[in-house]
Amino acid sequence: MAYQAEYIWLDGYEPTPSLRSKTKILHDEVTEPPIWGFDGSSTEQATGDKSDCVLKPVFKCPDPIRGGRNILVMCEVMLVSGRPHPTNTRNACAKVEKKFADTQMLFGLEQEYTMLRADRTPLGFPEGGGLPAPQGPYYCGVGTGKISGRQIVEEHTQACIDAGLSISGTNPEVMPGQWEFQVGPLGPTAVGDQLNVARWLLHRIAEDYDVIISFDAKPEKGDWNGAGCHTNFSNVAMRESYDAIIDACEKIGANFMELVENYGDGVAERLTGSHETAPWDQFSYGVSDRGASIRIPWQVEKDGKGYAEDRRPNANMDPYTVSRLITETINTPKAK
Ligand code: ADP
Ligand code: MN
Ligand code: MN
Ligand code: MN
Ligand code: MN
Repeated sequence: MAYQAEYIWLDGYEPTPSLRSKTKILHDEVTEPPIWGFDGSSTEQATGDKSDCVLKPVFKCPDPIRGGRNILVMCEVMLVSGRPHPTNTRNACAKVEKKFADTQMLFGLEQEYTMLRADRTPLGFPEGGGLPAPQGPYYCGVGTGKISGRQIVEEHTQACIDAGLSISGTNPEVMPGQWEFQVGPLGPTAVGDQLNVARWLLHRIAEDYDVIISFDAKPEKGDWNGAGCHTNFSNVAMRESYDAIIDACEKIGANFMELVENYGDGVAERLTGSHETAPWDQFSYGVSDRGASIRIPWQVEKDGKGYAEDRRPNANMDPYTVSRLITETINTPKAK
């Protein structure tokens, strides 16, 4: 029996690419999804006269929606020449992961997002305009009036598990209609592949409810939390010593602007210094400090080893770029 492979990739839209996908029917005897192609002139990745772009499978997993033998196939986009497409940030990430392989980097990403109605008002905001009661009861809340969209979260979480993804938890967030799921810990490239598949599954499941999934960093102006993608990271030295954790924070501090400029669209709108953020143009780190750029969890201080959390990446960040920059920054010896 033939089966279906959903090929997923990132388009060329700026500043934030979108996920795209299409279905290939694979014959019974085919066990590895082959290279495929698409019309790059429809995705801002090519001109009409040279429209062919190449889909190179990099990660596959069971398709939890179609079930059976069907699969999801995360792809990187290549040029017909065989070189990576300019929009392919995964390729550079994989190279850096290889270069620093002996540091055994691990990442855990906390993907926040907002569920919107078709008119782009958040679920949990009054229909027809106006504002809900102020923030407070919604974070990790339960019950009508505090929570909306839970059915989507339940389906998405089970779908990630059924797909074999390393989803490590979920929670309702501070703003109504806002949620989080976590992926990891995984290596720099794998965490990006799995986050992209998990994002795709979320968009796909929410379709069935006519709900829009927004990764916008500040979907509601005013006294409402933005949406981030806190990036927890460690190398093998950090998992063995507290000195290595401080060293990593100091190295990021020495390079903090280059990083924050690559942490997603609208970073300055979200990182204001309020709503559990540090100002985007200042660097700080501290134990348990949710107002710092980098937080060292209390348990890590107690254990004297573990990981640190860069709180600055936006919900709309590119995971391959963020993990690449952190890997390079904390593992490159200081210039003498
Ligand atoms: P928070 O308290 O900030 O909400 P979460 O529980 O949402 O924390 O997320 C913590 C993340 O840290 C998880 O995704 C987990 O996989 C990740 N994590 C745990 N240990 C490590 C480690 N040693 N290196 C990198 N990430 C880690
Ligand atoms: Mn979290
Ligand atoms: Mn959160
Ligand atoms: Mn938050
Ligand atoms: Mn966090």
